[in-house]
Amino acid sequence: MTVPSQLWHYTCDHAQLKIGAVGQLIPASSQMNLHELLPLSDFVWLTDLGAPNREALGLTSRILLCDRTQHRYRVTEGGHAIWWMDLRRVLPWQWVDAVESTPGARPVHWWAAQDPVPVELADIPSVLGAPSS
Ligand SMILES: [Zn+2]
Repeated sequence: MTVPSQLWHYTCDHAQLKIGAVGQLIPASSQMNLHELLPLSDFVWLTDLGAPNREALGLTSRILLCDRTQHRYRVTEGGHAIWWMDLRRVLPWQWVDAVESTPGARPVHWWAAQDPVPVELADIPSVLGAPSS
């Protein structure tokens, strides 16, 4: 599967403050020692969906506590991203099952990267205007 010409990353207010307007996405496991607990934290999560559909992206806050659709980042160099449908074959099935089983999930739109991914903030009005409560 060819890497789509445009990939996106959605995240919460807290992470946006750390990344800034232009920055790099880094797998959580390289910032904290999470590997054995959360194999999925070895990856930066990307999507080819330009609209923040929470269910499709699997960002339903069932596992994650924050609203991960508050901000959108445009990936400026995503050539090394791996398609989830390829990645899922080499991951423990329990983890695959956990992320794919949320209602409305559309895993064919998910991409992941293990190396830092350069991004720039590209919020869209519907994201900015969403009710915060
Ligand atoms: Zn947060």
